[in-house]
Amino acid sequence: MNLTRRYIVFLALLFSVYYSFAQSAGPKKTVVERFLKYVKIDTQSKDDMDSIPSTRKQFDLAKVLVEELKELGLGDARVDDHCYVYATLATNLPASVAAKVPVIGLISHMDTSPEVSGANVNAIIHYSYAGGDIRLPNDTTQVITVAKNPRLKDNIGSDIITADGTSLLGADDKAGCSEIMTVLQTLINDPSIKHGTIKIAFTPDEEVGTGAHGFEVKGFGAQYAYTIDGGQTGEISNETWNADEAKITLKGKNTHPGTAKGIMNNSLYPMAYFLSLFPPNMKPETTEKRVGFLHPYSGTVEVEESKLKVLLRDFDIQGLEKQRKILSDMKAKTLKKFPKAVIDIDIKETYRNMKLELDKVPFVTDYAIEACKRAGVKVDFKPVRGGTDGSQLTYNGLPCPNIFTGGENFHGKLEWIPVQGMEKGVKTILSLIQIWVEKNS
Ligand SMILES: [Zn+2]
Repeated sequence: MNLTRRYIVFLALLFSVYYSFAQSAGPKKTVVERFLKYVKIDTQSKDDMDSIPSTRKQFDLAKVLVEELKELGLGDARVDDHCYVYATLATNLPASVAAKVPVIGLISHMDTSPEVSGANVNAIIHYSYAGGDIRLPNDTTQVITVAKNPRLKDNIGSDIITADGTSLLGADDKAGCSEIMTVLQTLINDPSIKHGTIKIAFTPDEEVGTGAHGFEVKGFGAQYAYTIDGGQTGEISNETWNADEAKITLKGKNTHPGTAKGIMNNSLYPMAYFLSLFPPNMKPETTEKRVGFLHPYSGTVEVEESKLKVLLRDFDIQGLEKQRKILSDMKAKTLKKFPKAVIDIDIKETYRNMKLELDKVPFVTDYAIEACKRAGVKVDFKPVRGGTDGSQLTYNGLPCPNIFTGGENFHGKLEWIPVQGMEKGVKTILSLIQIWVEKNS
């Protein structure tokens, strides 16, 4: 080899090393790869705990996310003592433009519902779904039916992910976490996509209603945000319930049943009567759309004392007041029939409908709708018959509509999510970020 040829070979080698380095510069995981990794980590939260997080195991996912955020180059990624993960993606706009583009937040929650186990999740991808019911292999009584899941029909040919029938899947909200991480990866790997400063938060305990309690709204530093925590593809929400919880305590008197005559006052009977008074047309199982409900969902019964927890839900505050009145009427009726019973009703506010606040900044929701359209997603605008961290964050000064993840049947073993739904989620968030730049520069 003469000197020139050696030089050319050296240059070619140098180039190939550079090229392969450039190719692997940032992590390149698909949204599905991330999702399958996150659902394997058990992050089930627990009701009625005084601490945030309600379960320590939520830190397992938090630590993974911090590590991955750092890998992506978000150097300030951190998890705080209460298991909130925060990070910043700096803008890639020229300073003069960047100053005009609001700082946007993207939020999803790491915990899964206390209702169904989230341990040992065995996610199954049903490639090129051909139609028909999906029977889950490890508990064949668990069937995702076309009759109850009409949108399955829209997903023929899609790759549908489910659990195996023994646990929930955790698409709520690990799909949101995966989509946000994939958005960040895309923005980092493709500098041609211009974006403002983006703040990221992954939160604990959304499912037990305390997810926003430890959220540092000021420290977060976003002017507007979106929770990525909605259901089916295209779902956008700027409205949630007004939600209260009632704790009903019924006191009786216990004694040895052999010598109880004239002494025992068994609290189970008035409790049974009280339960029978719930209006049949105001139950979750008999209501839909904009109709609120009263839902006794858990309790304990003992002779000495019986307890009941009741959810109050309505989109209008007046509706909620009506429900409080119904409970106090039920108490009065029960006391009439069981004069010796002692009944205490303690009602606490859980969260409020975010629409009142979001209507003051309509463009925040409008941009999300526009983003769906640009991503080729049909918008399904509907009120959440539940709450999101966003409702409370909105009231804490961070306007925060909710965007779909693509998943369905949350909180149960029949949860499912199409891979293509998650991909559309990523596309929608990317469009949204660009819309914020366009509208403000
Ligand atoms: Zn959720």
